[in-house]
Amino acid sequence: MDIRQPQSLLEFQQMFPSELACAAYLEAIRWPGGFACPNCRACDKAQRIVTRPRVIRCRHCHRDVALTAGTIMHATRTPLQAWFLGAYLVATQTPGVSAVQLQRQLGLTRYETAFQMLHKLRAGMVRPNRDRIGADWPVEVDETLVGGRTKGQGRGVHHQSTVAGAIEVRLRPLGVQGTKPHRAVYAGRLRLGLVLENVVKGAVVRTDGWGGYDDLRHLGYAHKPMVLDGESEKTEAHLPMLHIAFSNLKTWLLGTHHSVSKQHLPAYLNEFVFRFNRRFYPMTAFASILGIGMNVAGPTYRSLYDGEWDHCAH
Ligand SMILES: [Zn+2]
Repeated sequence: MDIRQPQSLLEFQQMFPSELACAAYLEAIRWPGGFACPNCRACDKAQRIVTRPRVIRCRHCHRDVALTAGTIMHATRTPLQAWFLGAYLVATQTPGVSAVQLQRQLGLTRYETAFQMLHKLRAGMVRPNRDRIGADWPVEVDETLVGGRTKGQGRGVHHQSTVAGAIEVRLRPLGVQGTKPHRAVYAGRLRLGLVLENVVKGAVVRTDGWGGYDDLRHLGYAHKPMVLDGESEKTEAHLPMLHIAFSNLKTWLLGTHHSVSKQHLPAYLNEFVFRFNRRFYPMTAFASILGIGMNVAGPTYRSLYDGEWDHCAH
């Protein structure tokens, strides 16, 4: 079954006018081949209960199944319509939304509800078993420092985090009608995190001359370091795509989120990668978040703060 994607805010409003409409959409995403009871495995059509839109009743074993059990919306008291609008805003707005903006837009009483909702939505931004990049295109690899503006504590280096990145350098097809003949290459998919976890073996990997990358050849990569070292302008010319992505990352962290603690940084990196890789088709991102989010659990309040929550590969 095709999951319909709202193409505008107006269409979004028409598609999701009620809790029931949201629940039906979640059901279609969770059971694309039709409802299968997690209790008795029967595939009979489920019974809807009009007064309890989040629950469906199995016609076979008569057990109630919570639509959101085990998903990013597990045991939520927030209306599904608020979740949907939150997912829509965070997916389709170019800079995303901050927790303060989300709280205001959804009319939530507590900031914490908006903050946690965004973190749970971020769990829906990492596809499980995501593939590695580099099979089809050369990859630029580099590291950067982010953060370092903790309120009242100046710009201490100890507040900064090292972020490693890899990005595909794609060749624009020549002679395609309607495209401006500006740059021959453009940035493909981005990954933030360790090279081994994010780039396929055998990939052409471009780096600067830093000795830390000497191992890449032994690890099975076609390593192309820049021999001339030291001049940042030359490094940027050698790794142009990644430097633009890093620069956008820093602007986004400061601009939309003001500053981000080290503890929560991995979740924000996930969101940035998700946003960057869907920048040409943001309207599909809404259904992506809900689609992944219906199949993974989100962080609980406790796991967000005691560091137990694993943000997955970022
Ligand atoms: Zn059943």
